[in-house]
Amino acid sequence: MRLRHAALAALLPAVLCVPAHADDARDDTRDIGHDARATRDISRETLPADDGWASADSGTTGGAAADDAHVFTVTDRAGLVRALDGGSATPKIIRIAGTIDANTDDEGRRLDCADYTTGGYSLKKYLAAYDPRTWGSAKPNGPQEEARKASAARQAERVELRVGSNTTIVGLGDDALLKGAALQISDADNVIVRNLEIRDAYDCFPVWQPNSGGIGDWKAAYDTIWLRGASHVWIDHVTLSDKGHPDEDEPTYFARNHLRHDGLLDITNGSDLVTVSWSRFADHDKAMLIGNGDTATGDRGKLRVTLHHNEFESVVQRAPRVRFGQVHLYNNRYVVPDDAHDYRYSIGAGTESAIHAEHNAFHTPAHVEAADLVKSWNGSALRTEGNVFNDYPVDLLTLYNAYNSGSERDLTADTGWTPVLHGPVDSAAAADRAVARGAGAGRIR
Ligand code: CA
Repeated sequence: MRLRHAALAALLPAVLCVPAHADDARDDTRDIGHDARATRDISRETLPADDGWASADSGTTGGAAADDAHVFTVTDRAGLVRALDGGSATPKIIRIAGTIDANTDDEGRRLDCADYTTGGYSLKKYLAAYDPRTWGSAKPNGPQEEARKASAARQAERVELRVGSNTTIVGLGDDALLKGAALQISDADNVIVRNLEIRDAYDCFPVWQPNSGGIGDWKAAYDTIWLRGASHVWIDHVTLSDKGHPDEDEPTYFARNHLRHDGLLDITNGSDLVTVSWSRFADHDKAMLIGNGDTATGDRGKLRVTLHHNEFESVVQRAPRVRFGQVHLYNNRYVVPDDAHDYRYSIGAGTESAIHAEHNAFHTPAHVEAADLVKSWNGSALRTEGNVFNDYPVDLLTLYNAYNSGSERDLTADTGWTPVLHGPVDSAAAADRAVARGAGAGRIR
C-alpha cells in the first residue's frame, strides 16, 4: 500500500506531495498531517456508508479500484479526452489540474462560435427565416435549420465529454476548472465527481422551439453535468454555474430570452441512486431537472436522489424539479438575491414525484413569499419538515395548499416513503451556516 502512495505522489507536482510519516503505518489518505490539510488526496475516496441514495446496494466507489496505469493527471482537453477513454468502464481516476477549456482544438487552441459555424448558418438569417410572424408555429426546417444543426454538431463534438462506469474525476487543489464542458454520465454505473468547478456550458447554436410554453422558446443543448441512464453516482463539492455568461445578459428574440444554457445537473432517462452533496449551483435559470417527461414511465421506481448540504444561489427555478423520483432534500441552503426579479420557484413537485424536503434554509428578498418556494407540476405529494424562511420556521406544504387552493389540486404529505440512507440531519440554521462555509469546489479540507 505504501507503493501505491508513492506512485500517486510521483504524479503530483512537488508542491502537492504528501509528507511521509515514518511512524504512521496506516494507509489512510485522509490522515496526511495537519500541515498538509489543504493538499489531502481525495482520489481514491469512496462514498461513505449510508450517505444518501448512492450508498444503496453496493455503494459508490468510482475509480477507487484503478491500477496505477489508470490514474491520470490532466491539464488540457486532449489529456482529459484520452483519460476518459470514450466512456470505457475500466476503473480510472482522472485528476484535473488548473483550467481546462472544452472549446479548444486538439492543439489546445481556443475555438469560438465562429470556428464551429458551417453550412452558411447565421443567427441573423436564422431569425429572419423562422420569425413566428411569417414562419408560423411549425418546427424550423430548411437550409438555416440544417446549417444550425451541422454547426451545433461541430461544437458538441468538442464540448460533450462522455464519462463511463467505474470512474472518479476530481479537481486537484482548490482551483480546478472545466470551462464550457458538458459532462455526460451516460449508461454508466459507479461514478464520482468531486472538488471541481464546471462553468458556462454555452451553446453557440440554440434552437427555436415554436410550441414550447405557449409562445415558443429557445432551447440550449448542454447541461454542465447530465446523468442519463446512470446509477450509483456521487457528485460532491462541485460548483456549477454560468459564471461569465449569464443568460439574463443575452438579447431577446421572438419575445423570448435567447437562452445559451440548459441544466446545471440534469438526472433523467432511468438514472437512479444518486447523492449530490456539498455542492454549489449558482447564477443560472434551470438548475436541476430530475425526470424529463411526464410520459417517461420507465422512470417509475427510479430517479432516487439525495440532495444534502448544497447551496442554490441566484437560481431562477428547478432546485430541483422532480418527476417520479423519491428525492430526499435536506440541509440545503437557498439564496435568492435582492435584485432577482426573475425568480420563479425552488422546489418543483412534478408528476408522481415523492419529495421529502426537510431542514432547508431559504433566504429571499421581500418580494418573494414563502408560498412561492414550492410549485406543483401535476404533483400530488410533498413532505416538508423543519424548513426556515428568512430565519423563521415555515410549513411549506400548508402554505402551498393555502395559496393555491382552487388553481391546482392540493399536495398531501403522504409521499409513501421515509428516507433511511442519510447522515445526521442538522437544524436548518446549523446547516445554513455550514453550507455557506463549506459547499462548493476548493473547499474539501
Ligand atoms: Ca437538460
